[in-house]
Amino acid sequence: MATDWDIRPRASVCAQCEAEFEDRQDCFTVLRFTDEEGYVRADHCAECWTSKPPDDRGVSLWKGLFLLPPPPEAEALEENTAESLLRRLMDEDPESHANVIYILAVMLERKRQFIERATQNREDALIRIYEYRKTGETFLIRDPMLSLDELEPVQEQVIALLGSGEKQSKEPTPPTEEEPPLAGSPGGSERSPEGDER
Ligand SMILES: [Zn+2]
Repeated sequence: MATDWDIRPRASVCAQCEAEFEDRQDCFTVLRFTDEEGYVRADHCAECWTSKPPDDRGVSLWKGLFLLPPPPEAEALEENTAESLLRRLMDEDPESHANVIYILAVMLERKRQFIERATQNREDALIRIYEYRKTGETFLIRDPMLSLDELEPVQEQVIALLGSGEKQSKEPTPPTEEEPPLAGSPGGSERSPEGDER
């Protein structure tokens, strides 16, 4: 089903009053699932949310922070990261890359770039709903329910796919490839969570 894999952008304006969101403004998101349209997302400003909260609370709702998108140059530097690989595979053929996509999403969650907002237990699938912190996009990822035995080969595949592209941080490439400096900060994320609630 096409709706199993999807990326839903965050709106730049409120779904009710259409006011533009400002940087670091609270933003209330409802994700609904309909037979006709699949996942439908609506973002609301705090004022509308308090004065006219929607009756239909959907599959999931959460409060997040609206962050102004980074300038495009900053994006271009990030080739071959877990995020760009995830996007590419979801774009290409999410069904056949299901395992790798899922592991990438878990990696991004560990790095605090993804926030898991909800899970939806459908008859045909378990869907994990992640929000990408930087852009507020919603990533709908099917959980392939990997067993421990299946996990390791997929993880190796992911590491191979990321190759030397996944540099994690500011550190320049070390001259020798043999001993990558795995120490350092495990998360590698630039920011601590901003107190989002589930
Ligand atoms: Zn509004």
